[in-house]
Amino acid sequence: MPENPSKKMLAHCINEIGRLEGQDYFKANEVLLDDLATTLAICADDVEHATKMITAWKSRTRQMLHESDIRELADKTANRGTLPKGCSKCLGTDFIIVEHAGGTGVRRCECPRGRVLAKLDQERESARRNDPAFSGLPTFTGNEWKN
Ligand SMILES: [Zn+2]
Repeated sequence: MPENPSKKMLAHCINEIGRLEGQDYFKANEVLLDDLATTLAICADDVEHATKMITAWKSRTRQMLHESDIRELADKTANRGTLPKGCSKCLGTDFIIVEHAGGTGVRRCECPRGRVLAKLDQERESARRNDPAFSGLPTFTGNEWKN
């Protein structure tokens, strides 16, 4: 969920919001539509997700989309089964190589695919912590103990 969506993403979302013109209570108010587009851009994982959200909304109701509907819509339409495509940095791999403080290591990428993988890592880690059989034990990350 990027807090500062790219110009390309924003332009795409402004287009998508325009597709709602036939909805009941649609107001051709530029400020209002810009706000909706910005919220859509912040909540969508990528351009395909934004399109999917608007398509889902149009098939669900004739009512105009409200800002408060967007987050739930993003959750409901998120692509949980398949991962987004990687970017040019991580395409075809699950990690990227990083140089830090004279050492070399790996981490998840910052693109939509990397963020989904990082979120899954966190969910697995918190599931392990909440499992009574393993809680209270530190995790060995490969080169250090992490509490
Ligand atoms: Zn990437």
